[in-house]
Amino acid sequence: MPENNMVIKAIEAFIFEILMTTSSNSYKEFFPYPTSRKGQSEMMLAIENAVRTGVNICAEAPNGFGKTCVTLSSVLPWVKENNGKILYCARTHRQLDRVIEELVEISKRQNVSGVSFRGRRHMCLNPFVLENSDFVAPISEVCGQLKATGRCSYYEKLKKAGEPEDLIEEVPKKVLTAPEIVEFATSKSMCPYEMAKRLAKVVDVVALSYLYVFDPWILEVFIPDLGTPLSKIVLVQDEAHNVPATALDSASDSLTIRTTRQATREASSGPFKDGTSYEFSRSLTMKLQEISSDLKDNDEKVVNPQDIVDMAIRSASLDSGERVLRHMQEHGAKIKRGLLKAGKFPRSAIHRVAEFLLNWIRCADKHDYTFIISSTTSRAGTKSISLNLVALDPTSVTSPVLSRIHNSVAISGTISPIDAYSEMLGFDSESVKATFQSPFAVANRLGLVIGGLDTSFQNRNGNTFARMVDHCLAVVNATPGNTGIFTSSYSIGRSLVDAGFEKRLKRELFIELPGMKGTDNDKMIEKFKSKGEKGGAVLLGVQGGRNSEGGDFPGSTMDSVVVVGVPYARPTPSMEALIAYYDIAFNQKGRDYAYVLPAMTRAIQAAGRPVRRLDDKGVIVMLDQRFASSYLLRFIPSWLREVLQVIPDNPSDLAHQVESFFMT
Ligand code: SF4
Repeated sequence: MPENNMVIKAIEAFIFEILMTTSSNSYKEFFPYPTSRKGQSEMMLAIENAVRTGVNICAEAPNGFGKTCVTLSSVLPWVKENNGKILYCARTHRQLDRVIEELVEISKRQNVSGVSFRGRRHMCLNPFVLENSDFVAPISEVCGQLKATGRCSYYEKLKKAGEPEDLIEEVPKKVLTAPEIVEFATSKSMCPYEMAKRLAKVVDVVALSYLYVFDPWILEVFIPDLGTPLSKIVLVQDEAHNVPATALDSASDSLTIRTTRQATREASSGPFKDGTSYEFSRSLTMKLQEISSDLKDNDEKVVNPQDIVDMAIRSASLDSGERVLRHMQEHGAKIKRGLLKAGKFPRSAIHRVAEFLLNWIRCADKHDYTFIISSTTSRAGTKSISLNLVALDPTSVTSPVLSRIHNSVAISGTISPIDAYSEMLGFDSESVKATFQSPFAVANRLGLVIGGLDTSFQNRNGNTFARMVDHCLAVVNATPGNTGIFTSSYSIGRSLVDAGFEKRLKRELFIELPGMKGTDNDKMIEKFKSKGEKGGAVLLGVQGGRNSEGGDFPGSTMDSVVVVGVPYARPTPSMEALIAYYDIAFNQKGRDYAYVLPAMTRAIQAAGRPVRRLDDKGVIVMLDQRFASSYLLRFIPSWLREVLQVIPDNPSDLAHQVESFFMT
């Protein structure tokens, strides 16, 4: 139980506080604000204790708690004393910038330094690379080839910039965001990405995306290159509820039929003509079409990995799959070298097919992978077939990193049940798990579950949608500022509009569309937020989308939120494989961990949007009675559970409750 854990941790923290009186540094010397909020000191003690004793800690605290500053302040004392380094990983650019903003505050009290990274796409200056890279020729690979052959002038210039210790004296500040590094490096015609890497060697905090941290490259190249021993690295995992899915993504891979066709064309004529590559790629394309012919739109099935390669080999009258793929790998590498030498972009579909299939076969006997062929149809109606290597075990990605570093601090506002996440992060049984109190006054939140309304698939009909629209309108009309409505899928959002929501709405409606460009979404959100003080507007988005997960809506930019339905994933063969794997790996908790937990995390993320600051007043309406079931309540964190009440399926009652809340 998190509460029991909290008591134990509080006692440990108390003992530790006594011990700390003899210690040279403590979080108190690093925390940059005059006073700490409710729960912050407890969290800092618990984290500092865990770091000093080298155990992993999984900490839950609500949004707006100040987790970033609290975490930095409590890890930095050990890092400074031991000449260590914090790798602070987060998901969005905004979260990474936030790390640097808090570090700037700490730097007013203590001599601390840090940099944030973005991907090469945002930090590379080389137009040749930026304009040409794609999935077949990723930017990292091309950058590596250019650097190795001395063909990137930005890198060559940086090499002459001296040692990292000299470089940090040259840059304008010792705490720098990625955009600030880009600005400075651009003014010197040096590579910003490589400059950030150099600075990372001599700073205390390196903020970077999860994608790097759980890429095998981080252990092989990035961390050794930092010059800090692994035993002196503390890994902070911010918004750690995202880590299991990110880890699985990073160990998974896909090959589309488009690439196998490209490989066939590449090998068919011209300077790269190659009979073996041509026969195999052509045969593979035909086999993929044949095998997927019984799949419906957006459908998938499990396949035998070795059979796919063997069938293509037999049909092309070739001998060994391994030999053919090795030949294609070598031929593809030759093509890439030739292109680069000729000043062209080093891209080879033959190479990509070979690399994917060699890995596909390498994983064939591993029980923590499943092998899928899928058929998807885009909104434009284009059908795509792909082979998907689907990883099933997030701990196989996280554990190699965790077992070699000093310790890890995982923090999140949505990490209930905390034991489940701790296991999926790869933390061992010794790790500390602690939940910290919300600094928000309970009176600032109204949480309502609509009883008697079930939006699950079998209950969806005209009448259910009409009731859902009535409830959404009741909330919107009783809310002084903006309302966010986050549905369990885009199609539910469309159905609400079809059921008359937009027609009956008297406020402006902003709709998040699937596949919307980031810049278009940003513009829309800016406009939506501006309506908060001008009579209010409505944002109709999706749970698990960029606005319900990463959006920050303080004050009247979102006063109320309606969470419509539980966003369970489709029961696909990959999901079934994940549930079966988790049943074995996590003591028969496959359905809980693989299916229910991700859905509830998405719902709770959406629910947390209106309460971002200490003084925010927010209404959270969970529009589905299943949220109040004892089964799902286990997945709701205490900051929400403590205010949730079930009300009858009556829109007038709902409107009255919301109105009264905002009037007090
Ligand atoms: S060294 Fe820097 S500028 Fe050159 S290709 Fe790589 S990331 Fe781009």
